[in-house]
Amino acid sequence: MSAIDCVDTIAEVRAGLDAARSRGASIGFVPTMGALHEGHLALIREARDRDDVVVVSIFVNPTQFNAAEDLAKYPRDLDRDLALAAEAGADLVFAPQVAEMYPPGATTWVDVEGLTEGLCGAARPGHFRGVCTVVTKLFNIVGPDRAYFGEKDAQQLAVIKRMVRDLDMRLEIVPCPTVRETDGLAMSSRNVRLTPEARAQAPLLYRALTEALVAVENGERDAVRLKAGICGVLADADLARIDYVEVVDAETLQPVVSVDRPVLIAVAVFFGDVRLIDNVTVGV
Ligand code: AMP
Repeated sequence: MSAIDCVDTIAEVRAGLDAARSRGASIGFVPTMGALHEGHLALIREARDRDDVVVVSIFVNPTQFNAAEDLAKYPRDLDRDLALAAEAGADLVFAPQVAEMYPPGATTWVDVEGLTEGLCGAARPGHFRGVCTVVTKLFNIVGPDRAYFGEKDAQQLAVIKRMVRDLDMRLEIVPCPTVRETDGLAMSSRNVRLTPEARAQAPLLYRALTEALVAVENGERDAVRLKAGICGVLADADLARIDYVEVVDAETLQPVVSVDRPVLIAVAVFFGDVRLIDNVTVGV
């Protein structure tokens, strides 16, 4: 049994946070889909450092999945997650059922245009609409002062920041660095679904990105040549099928021709049906 409070209704979250709010405590919020790993725990620890009360949500949001099969395969282990969240310093976990978040007749969506069309948005139509809708709902339920998001999901972070700005949401979005395995692979709940052979090849994603960073440091500015270099490294992963390799403006996420401003270099690669993403930013 974990000591942490875990509730599954919106009313309980609000009741649980009313006292903290009225005494002026700051609320930090970490939205997750569970299957917690060190990447999530780093977000919770950051919230613990900066806020008085730390709330974590665990909700596998059906509206952001394109394939029912992917949703069904998503790993779930609430007891383990509660123990890990408590250890990292969370005070309250909100783990609702789907019906609590999407009552029958719900027809309202939050759609951030432009930023959501390229990169992951191209292969996953409707994905960011599902993310933005659930994150807006969670913000309305929790009412956080700060919400913590991982840089690993760079497009998601850019989209959420834009949504908060455009809709005048009253909270700060705190970006947190990508947490990696010792071999460089970005931690992800999906990594456990890799075959041993694919797991052995997966660190090539980050190696390809770091080689691109070195190339930029050495003066390379041409996006086409940078992308070709990344594809060249990924060619060594014979199990990998590239979804995209992109060099985009860090804010607008539009492709750039030349690295003459802050850019995001982002990749998405399939190993079988497991799609991995990673990215690095170049300040210039
Ligand atoms: P998820 O459970 O995949 O929806 O992720 C919940 C939050 O954890 C998001 O803000 C992610 O960007 C963040 N996150 C996931 N993996 C990592 C990682 N390896 N490093 C840092 N943050 C991460």
